[in-house]
Amino acid sequence: MTHHVPPHQPKTPGANALLAGKAKRLLIANVWRTAAEGGAFATHDPASGALLAYLAEGTASDADIAVAAARDALVDPAWRDMKPSARGRLLWKIADLIEAHADELAELETLDQGKSWATSRMAEIPASAEQFRYYAGFANKILGQTIPTSIGYHPPGKKLFAYTTREPVGVVAAITPWNSPLLMAAMKLAPALCAGCTVVLKPAEETSLTALRLGELLVEAGLPAGVVNIVTGFGSTVGAHLAAHPDVDKVAFTGSTEVGRMIVGAAQGNLKKLTLELGGKSPAIVMPDADLQLALPGVARGIFANSGQVCVAGSRAYVHSSIHDAFVEKLALEAGKLRLGHGLDPETDLGPLVSSAQAARVASYVDEGKSSGAVIAAGGERLGIDSAFFAPTVVTAVHPEMRMMREEIFGPVIAVTPFDEPEEALVLANDTKFGLAASVWTQDLSAAHRLAAGVRAGTVWINCHSYFSPELPKGGHRESGWGYENGPQGLENYLETKAVCAVI
Ligand code: ADP
Repeated sequence: MTHHVPPHQPKTPGANALLAGKAKRLLIANVWRTAAEGGAFATHDPASGALLAYLAEGTASDADIAVAAARDALVDPAWRDMKPSARGRLLWKIADLIEAHADELAELETLDQGKSWATSRMAEIPASAEQFRYYAGFANKILGQTIPTSIGYHPPGKKLFAYTTREPVGVVAAITPWNSPLLMAAMKLAPALCAGCTVVLKPAEETSLTALRLGELLVEAGLPAGVVNIVTGFGSTVGAHLAAHPDVDKVAFTGSTEVGRMIVGAAQGNLKKLTLELGGKSPAIVMPDADLQLALPGVARGIFANSGQVCVAGSRAYVHSSIHDAFVEKLALEAGKLRLGHGLDPETDLGPLVSSAQAARVASYVDEGKSSGAVIAAGGERLGIDSAFFAPTVVTAVHPEMRMMREEIFGPVIAVTPFDEPEEALVLANDTKFGLAASVWTQDLSAAHRLAAGVRAGTVWINCHSYFSPELPKGGHRESGWGYENGPQGLENYLETKAVCAVI
């Protein structure tokens, strides 16, 4: 089977302008510069393999200059003394600009990452704008407390007055992955800017285009110089250097658990604050009374959306044995219905994976499972040698010890396992080192909430999967991460508390 997809010419003037001509540059102190060592690397459309652009290959020296710019901006009165309401208006303006340029941002995202136009244009680009809107409203509501203390040893006749203030944590290195590039950047930039931090953003090397366009929009919005700097380049150079940098106060990272561990190691020099949103192996538990009109498309969407390249993808389904076989059959039909193609083709349901290397990685999990007895009910293969397309795949007869059941695949592959008792479903669901998310499918209210309480995960959905909103805190339990994004919790991670205690 092969899947030939022709190159796509961008339609929007904005995307054309970004992709036309010269190599892209780094954004440092609101100036677009070439990389210090002059290097560049290519970025491709994973669907057609076409070259999209050359990006500046930042190195440690660029990261140093960017961190210095961010450090200066932290105490620049234009940023430090900006009134909270003005900071809120600035965030709101960034959201407006993202919305005004949503078509071109969606086009760039789809070209660079592969995801369908609908996912980019209807879901992720608007969600990126919503991140800025949500935190715009917080900018003038960051409050300290006055605190009555019980200290008894103050001088006679004097009183104590104690209070807390909130301060930005400082210079933040935001290191983002390739699965939802603009949204992952927005989820870090919006709370960081709300808190008054400054940022060096290192987007994933596979998908940096929307971050660069966002950089132009941030300058247009009027963000003071150095508040957000963007250094494109590789994780092992720029990313690792930022994670170890003595002048970086915090790393906000989304990506693999493996790289998360490296960041923990690198950050210990100056004991950086860390938020880590890492891998997952999220279960979907389908009870015998589940409403299959909801559960079937819901479980299918939970794994196949964005071709499974979603940290919370429901890659392990546990389905009650009374409905297991019928469920597998119908899920396989759902998988088979999905039309694969270029993300910008209106007929396409699923685009390619981010690269053919990622498709090869997914294939290795499936092939290894097959050779240990797993049965393929749908899909199971790449659409051609070197292709970045991987067919939506349903697997049964899996064993909990298979690598495909223990590691994050990050592809459109779901393994379905039967269970008999809810307690057994919970044991199976929790048999993982991860704890990012889960879904529970049942019409029984008590069962739903009991299962939600029993699953070890940062998010549990009941009769839905992958529902996100900036209001909902999102984070990983166990080896799925440290800290939370979104909600008031997401802002906390960018703030320090200072306790001031005075004898008056
Ligand atoms: P994914 O494959 O899910 O994108 P990775 O963890 O490989 O996840 O990459 C996420 C981000 O981390 C990317 O921007 C990548 O360049 C960066 N990265 C990779 N290795 C390192 C490292 N050693 N230190 C810091 N960042 C890194």
